Amino acid sequence: MPAFPDTHGHFGDFGGKFVAETLMPALFELEQAYKEARRDPKFHADLERYSREYVGRPTPLFFCANLTAKLGGARIYLKREDLCHTGAHKANNALGQALLAVRMKKERISAETGAGQHGVATATFSALFQRACEVFMGSVDVERQALNVFRMKLLGAKVTAVDSGTKSLKDAMSEALRDWTATVRDTYYLIGSAAGPHPYPMIVRDFQTVIGREARRQIVKHEGRLPDILIACVNGGSNAIGLMYPFIKDKNVRMIFVEAGGLGINGPSHAATLTLGTPGVLHGNRTLLLQDELGQIRDTHSIAAGLDYPGVGPELAHLRDSGRAEYAAVTDAEALEAFRLLCETEGIIPALESSHAIAYTAKLAPTLPKEQVIIINLSGRGDKDMNTVARALGVPLREGG
Ligand SMILES: *Cc1c(COP(=O)(O)O)cnc(C)c1O
Repeated sequence: MPAFPDTHGHFGDFGGKFVAETLMPALFELEQAYKEARRDPKFHADLERYSREYVGRPTPLFFCANLTAKLGGARIYLKREDLCHTGAHKANNALGQALLAVRMKKERISAETGAGQHGVATATFSALFQRACEVFMGSVDVERQALNVFRMKLLGAKVTAVDSGTKSLKDAMSEALRDWTATVRDTYYLIGSAAGPHPYPMIVRDFQTVIGREARRQIVKHEGRLPDILIACVNGGSNAIGLMYPFIKDKNVRMIFVEAGGLGINGPSHAATLTLGTPGVLHGNRTLLLQDELGQIRDTHSIAAGLDYPGVGPELAHLRDSGRAEYAAVTDAEALEAFRLLCETEGIIPALESSHAIAYTAKLAPTLPKEQVIIINLSGRGDKDMNTVARALGVPLREGG
C-alpha cells in the first residue's frame, strides 16, 4: 500500500478536499468505488486488456544513441508515451477512469481541458464505452485549439466554451466542478491530471504508474540496473508522477520535475509553480499556486499549452518540500531548441510539453559521467504543435497545407 495520501487525502501539508458540501458524498462514493475496483481482478483484467489492445501498451523504452553521442555524457532513454492512442500519456488515466465510470453506472462523463489533449482522450473513451460526454474548455482555448475541438466533436462530445476569468484551463476546471455539483447523480467527472480534491490525485497517479512500472522492467532488461535519473515535464504532474512513483523508495534514483519557464522566471510570463508558487487552495485541494498577496491567481504563460495551469498536484508539491524531488524551469526558447534537437537527432517529433524535459536533459547530460543513465518521459507527440512551432520559427503554414 502506498504511504501517501493519508486517509484524508493529505500528502504532507498538501492535498485534502476543499469542495462544496454537495460534492462530499460524490467524492466519498468515488473513493469507495475505486477501492472496490482495485480489489477486483475483473477490473484489472479489463484495464490490462484495453491498455494492450486499444492504447497500445506497453510503450517502448528507446535508447537514444544519437542524442547520447551528441550531448557527450549520460546515456539517454525515452519512455515513448507519445505512441499511446490519442498521442499522449493522458490515455492511461482517461481509460482507467472511464472504466470506473462504467462500473459506477454513470451515463454521462464530464471533463475540463486546456489544450484539448485531455478532452480528446475523454471523448475517445466516452465513445468507446458509449457514454454521453461534455468537455468544458475556456473560450480562448476553444479559439486557439480549433483542431482539437473538431476532434472532440467528431468523437461525439459536446464542447462547452467557458467565458469566465481568463477563459482558459483554470476557468474550465472551475466550471466543470460547478457543473458536477448539479449533476452528480448521473455524471462521472473525469479529471485530467494528478490534481483536484482527494481521491483524484491518488487515482490519476495510480492509473499513470503503468508508465513507471513498465520503464522499471525495461531499463533493467537494457542496462541490468535501475536508472540514475528520471526527468519529466510537469503541469498538474500526472506524467511525472506516473513515471517516478514506482521508483520513489529507490533513494539513489534522482527525480527531476521540469516546468514551464515561459519568457523567463524573472518576469510575469511563466508557469513555474514549483519554483515560485506559494501554498493556497484552488480546485478542491491545498497546493502550490501562482498567486498574488491577496490570493488572486496570476495569469500564466507557456509556449506549451499543456503546461500553463497555475497550480501543481499536491503530491508533487510534497515531493518538492520533502526534498525527494528536484525541480527546474525551462524557457519557451530552450524548449523550442530541444524540440528541433530531438527531431534532428532521433527522427521523433516531441510535444512542446515534453520538449521541456528534453531541454533540461540537454543541459544536464553533458555534465554527467558516461555510465550514468537517464530516462526522459516523452509524454506526447508533437503533431498538435505544428502551427505553434511554425509561427515561433517564422515559417508560414497554410491551414490544411
Ligand atoms: C497535458 C500534458 C502534459 C502536462 O500534464 P501533466 O499532468 O503534468 O503530465 C504534458 N505533456 C503532454 C503531452 C500533455 O498532453
